[in-house]
Amino acid sequence: TRMLKIRTEKMELVSQLASSISHEVRNPLTVVRGFLQLLQQVELPKKKKEEYVKLAISEIDRAESIIGDYLTFAKPSKEKEEFLNTKEELERALEVIKPLANMNSVAIETAFHPCWIRGDKQLFQQCLLNITKNCIEAMPNGGTLRIHTHFDGNKVVIHVSDNGIGMTEEQQRRLGEPYYTTKGKKGTGLGMMVAFRIIENFNGSISVSSELHKGTTFTLCLPTLNTDTEEVASTKE
Ligand code: ADP
Ligand code: MG
Repeated sequence: TRMLKIRTEKMELVSQLASSISHEVRNPLTVVRGFLQLLQQVELPKKKKEEYVKLAISEIDRAESIIGDYLTFAKPSKEKEEFLNTKEELERALEVIKPLANMNSVAIETAFHPCWIRGDKQLFQQCLLNITKNCIEAMPNGGTLRIHTHFDGNKVVIHVSDNGIGMTEEQQRRLGEPYYTTKGKKGTGLGMMVAFRIIENFNGSISVSSELHKGTTFTLCLPTLNTDTEEVASTKE
């Protein structure tokens, strides 16, 4: 039946992402191998040696970034759908991102509404991580990462905003295009593509509004399961 088909497709995202990793990581690995081979030469000037080691390390870092953008949390298990409390999940994601925020002098402001969505926990964490990481990286001289949630009928709406460098219209248009990055060697251009695919997998939608030098807001809409209005938990840190 049609229902069954959609479910099977949904179940495949984790394995799709995993196979993308093995593909993407092959390049930096090949480069590292090349440099190690060069280092095997006996009479190699010290300068050259240092250069090769540095380049090899930067390729390893790149491989790590790629893995980070795809599946930071994934254990080699099947994707499983469960009920997720958005408040709990957002708090968990913030614990992971906090060290990076601190390093960039980024304050975090939150107002979370507890409500339930359905999907894979690891994928939801990955999506939140990729978006919040970009926001923090957009504020190299500090700023505030704001995350708040509210109900909108049968949806939970999550706003994630920064007051960072912002994006041009072209950057906004190209957001989520594989390999599209403005971060040079430091970027993978994979984080938003992965985030978009996860939102899609959750039957949700995401939109962006951004102004250059002012900041960016991502709005995630996800189908929710309840509409009970527990009080909004508001914290500042
Ligand atoms: P990466 O972070 O490796 O560059 P992403 O796919 O995560 O790749 O993001 C793609 C591009 O989208 C970034 O290089 C940046 O130009 C832009 N971008 C994403 N989020 C933001 C943001 N919060 N503020 C400004 N630019 C952003
Ligand atoms: Mg990114």
